[in-house]
Amino acid sequence: MMGEKILTKYIAEQNCQTIDFYLAHDGYKALRKALSITPDAVIEEVKKSNLRGRGGAGFPTGMKWSFMPKNPVDADGRPRPKYLVCNADEGEPGTFKDRLIMTKNPHALIEGMVIAAHAVGAVRGYIYIRGEFFKEARLLQRAIDDARGQGYLGKNILGSNLHFDLFVYRGAGAYICGEESALLNSLEGKRGEPRLKPPFPAQVGAFGMPTCVNNVETFAVIPYIIEHGGPKFAAMGTEKSGGLRLFCVSGQVERPGIYELSMRTTLRELIDIAGGVRNGKKLKAVIPGGASAPMLTAEEIDVPLCFDAMMKAQTMAGSGGAIVMSEDVCIVEATSILLRFYEHESCGQCSQCREGSHWLARMFARIEAGKGTHDDLITIERICANMAGQTICAFADAVTGPALSAVRKFRSEFEDHIRQRRCPQKAMLRAPATDSVRGQTHV
Ligand code: SF4
Repeated sequence: MMGEKILTKYIAEQNCQTIDFYLAHDGYKALRKALSITPDAVIEEVKKSNLRGRGGAGFPTGMKWSFMPKNPVDADGRPRPKYLVCNADEGEPGTFKDRLIMTKNPHALIEGMVIAAHAVGAVRGYIYIRGEFFKEARLLQRAIDDARGQGYLGKNILGSNLHFDLFVYRGAGAYICGEESALLNSLEGKRGEPRLKPPFPAQVGAFGMPTCVNNVETFAVIPYIIEHGGPKFAAMGTEKSGGLRLFCVSGQVERPGIYELSMRTTLRELIDIAGGVRNGKKLKAVIPGGASAPMLTAEEIDVPLCFDAMMKAQTMAGSGGAIVMSEDVCIVEATSILLRFYEHESCGQCSQCREGSHWLARMFARIEAGKGTHDDLITIERICANMAGQTICAFADAVTGPALSAVRKFRSEFEDHIRQRRCPQKAMLRAPATDSVRGQTHV
C-alpha cells in the first residue's frame, strides 16, 4: 500500500479493532466536532468532500443525505422517526473490502454512522450484515457494546441532544439483498426482493419510515472528512470522485488483496501495485468493479478507477473489486461460471431477468461444452437487449454486462469453441480460470 491511508492506516497493528486503540488514535474526535456544528453544516462538509457511495452506484453521499426530509409527519401529524441503514451485505463477487473494515476498523463505521445520524436526524441505525460473516458480526456487536458503554451510542450522546442506537441484523446470504430495497424488505422480515421505486428509501424506507442507506466504507470515511475537512478528502481523488478508496484485487495477480488508493489511480497501476499478472503471464481481461461490471481488455486498462472515467470506458467502477484474468483463462468458461451465479441469484420477480439469466447461463454452458452454434451468439445479444433497463432493479443489467462484453470483446474465443466443438484451453487451464472468477480473499 502506498501514500496516505485513511481506513487501513493501523490495520497491521495489534488490537486495532478495540475501542481503546481507536480512542488512543483520535477515535471519536470527529464526532465531538460534528456535534458542535449544525446538521446542515455536516452535510455541507460531506458535499464538499465529493464522497460518492462506495457500494457500487457511486451516488454523491452529501446529496443523498440532503434528500432526507427534515421533520416528517404521518397523516395524523405525528412525527415519523428516521432511520439509518448500513449495507454490509457485500455479496458482489470479487469484493471483500467491507469485511476488512468491520474486522479491523469497526469503530470508524460506528462513528461515521453516529455522525450521519446527527446530520439526517436519525434515531436508530441497522447494520445489515451478510449471513456468512459470522466473525464480522461478532466483532461488530462487541464494538457496538463498547461504544454504547462509553457513551458514543444511546441517549444524549456525549452530553448532546442526540439519541441514537445501533443494531446488527444478519441476512441469510442472498446476493440480491445487497440491493438497497431488497435489503430493506429482508430487514423487515419479508422476502428479500427489490421494491419498485419511487418511493425511494428517503421517503418510504425501513418499516415505512424515511431511511438513508449507505455502504460500510461510505460511513467509515465520514470521521476523516469531518475531522480534516471535505476539501482535503476531495483533493485526494478526481474532480468528481473525492478521496481514497479500498480496491480489491483478485484473480491472477502476484499479490491479491486490498489496496487503499486515490481514485486517480489507473487500472493498470492497480494491477502493477498488486504485483502484476501472476507468473509473468500476459493480461487477457479485467472485470474492474465487481462481477457485474463489463470486462475490459488488456488494451483498455489505462483508465482511472473513478466512477466517471469508468463509465466513459463503458464499464463500471462499481464496488471496487478488480478480477484479473491472464492469457490462460478461457473467457467462455469464466463468463459461464458468472452466469450460473446470476441465474441462481435472480429473485425471479421479473420475467426478463428470471428467464433471461437462465437462458444466458444455459447458452454459455452449451458453447463452453462445444455444443453451441453461431446462432447462439445472435440469440445472446437479443436476450440481453430484452433484459437491460427493463426490470424492477439493476440486477438484469448486471447480468448482461459481463455476458455482452465477453461476447463482443472476445468473440474469436466463442467462435473457436463453436468451430472446434470443444474448449481449446480446457484440459490444460481449467483450474486458473475457475480461481480468477470466484476471487480470493487475501487481506
Ligand atoms: Fe428480481 Fe431480477 Fe427483477 Fe431485480 S431484475 S427484481 S433480481 S427478477
